[in-house]
Amino acid sequence: MDNQMTLTFIARSENEGLARVAVTSFIAQLDPTIEELSECKTIVSEAVSNAIIHGYANNPNGIITIHAIRDGAAISVAIKDEGCGIEDIEQAREPLYTTKPEIERSGMGFTIMESFSDFLQVESNVGIGTVITFTKQISSARTLVT
Ligand code: ATP
Ligand code: MG
Repeated sequence: MDNQMTLTFIARSENEGLARVAVTSFIAQLDPTIEELSECKTIVSEAVSNAIIHGYANNPNGIITIHAIRDGAAISVAIKDEGCGIEDIEQAREPLYTTKPEIERSGMGFTIMESFSDFLQVESNVGIGTVITFTKQISSARTLVT
């Protein structure tokens, strides 16, 4: 492992921007393309908004922790909540599946996260919480910070 960072914040939607900026600047050391950066930002936004809306049902007392690791040109980012957890992970990952159609969720969060990452792991336990981990190879990595 070449570098790592941890960020902890409460489950308020205004902290979504903070999470995006922190992960973006962590990844910037790999000299990514604008596209790679915006894909990582989108994954972080989707995972953090899921933690706020679903994990904590908009209760702002919840804690979200992001742990990012760089290993060579590979980035791995874990977004963790200690909220309600997911009963059926396979079903939750299906395109268009949402438990909140009434508030106009489209059920595409996981599908988007998957398409923008090389690998997306979902670990969840009901009543304990959820950890979403994505890994992404920054193909444009030219100047590796040592
Ligand atoms: P969209 O992301 O398109 O607005 P969505 O959030 O419902 O809609 P996904 O992000 O794909 O869609 O998530 C699918 C479902 O998985 C959610 O509706 C919710 O039931 C469950 N889920 C996702 N993340 C969490 C989480 N952190 N904690 C608990 N449940 C979750
Ligand atoms: Mg979502």
